[in-house]
Amino acid sequence: MFAREKFAGMNSIKFYQQFQTDIDCYKYLSDIKWQSGYICRKCGHTKYYQGVKPYSRRCMRCKYDESATAGTMFDKCKFSLLIAFHIAFKISTKKKGMSSEGLSEEFELRQKTCWEFKWKIQQALKSSGRYPLKGTVHVDEFYVGGEEEGGKRGRGKGKKRLVIIALEIVKGEFGRAYAATIKDGSSASFKPFFERYIDKDADVVTDEWTGYVPLKSAYKKLRQLPSNKGKSFPELHIHIMNIKIWLRGIHHHCSEDRLQGYLDEYHFRFNRRNKMEAIFDSLINRMVQYEPKRLNNT
Ligand SMILES: [Zn+2]
Repeated sequence: MFAREKFAGMNSIKFYQQFQTDIDCYKYLSDIKWQSGYICRKCGHTKYYQGVKPYSRRCMRCKYDESATAGTMFDKCKFSLLIAFHIAFKISTKKKGMSSEGLSEEFELRQKTCWEFKWKIQQALKSSGRYPLKGTVHVDEFYVGGEEEGGKRGRGKGKKRLVIIALEIVKGEFGRAYAATIKDGSSASFKPFFERYIDKDADVVTDEWTGYVPLKSAYKKLRQLPSNKGKSFPELHIHIMNIKIWLRGIHHHCSEDRLQGYLDEYHFRFNRRNKMEAIFDSLINRMVQYEPKRLNNT
């Protein structure tokens, strides 16, 4: 086993120094891909020699030559690996995020190409659901788009989308948070979100909406308080406001699938705001280990 050299931090000069060519990026991917050792994907053999492409590995037994990008989100990328790394760096470290228009300008790529790659990255940023929120957890729903944002009641009603959100409160401070688009405010729509993101033993607090009542059978400590126009949940309402401001800054319209991607992107950064030094490496790890679904298959 070897210790691979992880890129740490958000310093773009350091980043440009470490990643100057495609070869630098192939090495980085190869180090991640085979960090627990080499196993041939075809025959399971564990001995290899240098393959044809940079940092690819060729099986000594069956001669299968596997590139560092094969089976990762970088496979069949429409632009150079170096550009892909730079885009991943921008998206993971820039607090305001990067729109596909912004990426298109900066890297001289078609906007659609950037849009597709950004979509892949957002898939990688989706939480594994393995670390549910614990302790005090405030839950609420809010709308994105539609009348609230447009200012004209009734108009654009169809575009308005409902989001459920949960935020940990740790000693009066913000903890971690997750959010998901939902069809409606029914307990059936709330349930999958609760099951994925909230520990059964958490002290969940919601407003008095009836949709939360049936969840009390699984979440014994769930309490309901009068919302008092949001004043009962000040941290959560600040968090929702920040998401809305961020969303307005980064995109104008997005489909429901895309909104979920943006919520995942936002919370990936938010939940790592105290360990941003590891954020780029963490994203690349996820992109190496993730097989992307097809765009039209979500
Ligand atoms: Zn083999």
